[in-house]
Amino acid sequence: MNNGTEELAARVAAGDRRALARAITLVESTRADHREAAETLLDRLADPSRSALRVGLSGTPGVGKSSFIEALGLRLVERGHRVAVLAVDPSSARSGGSILGDKTRMERLSRDPRAFIRPSPAADQLGGVARRTREAMALCEAAGFDVVIVETVGVGQSETLVSRMTDVFALLLAPAGGDELQGVKRGIMEIADLVLVNKADGELAAQARRTCADYAGALRLMRVRDTDPEGIPAARTVSALTGDGLDEAWATLERLAEWRRENGVLARMRAAQAGQWFEDELRAGLMALLTADPGLERRLADLRAEVEAGHAAPAAAARAALAPLARALRDA
Ligand code: GDP
Repeated sequence: MNNGTEELAARVAAGDRRALARAITLVESTRADHREAAETLLDRLADPSRSALRVGLSGTPGVGKSSFIEALGLRLVERGHRVAVLAVDPSSARSGGSILGDKTRMERLSRDPRAFIRPSPAADQLGGVARRTREAMALCEAAGFDVVIVETVGVGQSETLVSRMTDVFALLLAPAGGDELQGVKRGIMEIADLVLVNKADGELAAQARRTCADYAGALRLMRVRDTDPEGIPAARTVSALTGDGLDEAWATLERLAEWRRENGVLARMRAAQAGQWFEDELRAGLMALLTADPGLERRLADLRAEVEAGHAAPAAAARAALAPLARALRDA
């Protein structure tokens, strides 16, 4: 390891937030030399004794995610926690900019030395988002943050992604009119451990309670998992504005994580997540091998063009693309 990486590792381990930000920038880079340094850094910092409660939080824009995380985060740091917030925003992959990074969010929490907030970068694909988030989470843990909140906008795939790298998963909703269930996709409800109906204050309070009851009913019909204790999944009302329900919501998540830890569920989940991470890296590594050589990369582009033009079947073209790798393996 070169001196720069070694020093950076030491500073991250000491809990230096600027060093942590730099380390995350390093793991976000796709440049080959950065990648190498990032992997060395992660390896150096791997420390199983430093592990956070990993919380996934999802909700559509405007539902109050940043208000909620700020209010909750401020409470948690007051109680002695160190809180890191990472944003996953796959839509930024398409727009080239980050919605979550644009405005100043969680201003008070971000100024607190016991907290660390990192907006989502513009990654070029969901796979890149997954790697970056896992690695950023590992770095936050290595820096001594004991609560890591991974926030994602509710745009489909990203919830599943985030639920597969966290210990508990909460879905934030707004009070809905009537008895409609806001068109929340069943798949998303199924991965939620806790549904939180935000904005349960003032004129919206009664509506929020009704919405919450509707969701509680829907959740009861949905599933019983052996990863859940009695009463999970649950639905609660909260107000990020007044702070109502925040302590209860946190207590529910903490109790659930504790239950999963005591019953061996957390260890199983994390083992499966590590296995999944390994497989994702293998897949990404294979793609990188295929495109590392300019000649091969061109051939890949040609094959894709043939598929798109209808001149080649996708499966046959993929096999042809893999042929050089297959040959190399055979000859090895
Ligand atoms: P995000 O896009 O999900 O991060 O949502 P924001 O946290 O930016 O909040 C969107 C809007 O809802 C803002 O105008 C907030 O002030 C408002 N808001 C957030 N939480 C609450 C709440 O608990 N009660 C009320 N009444 N408004 C809230």
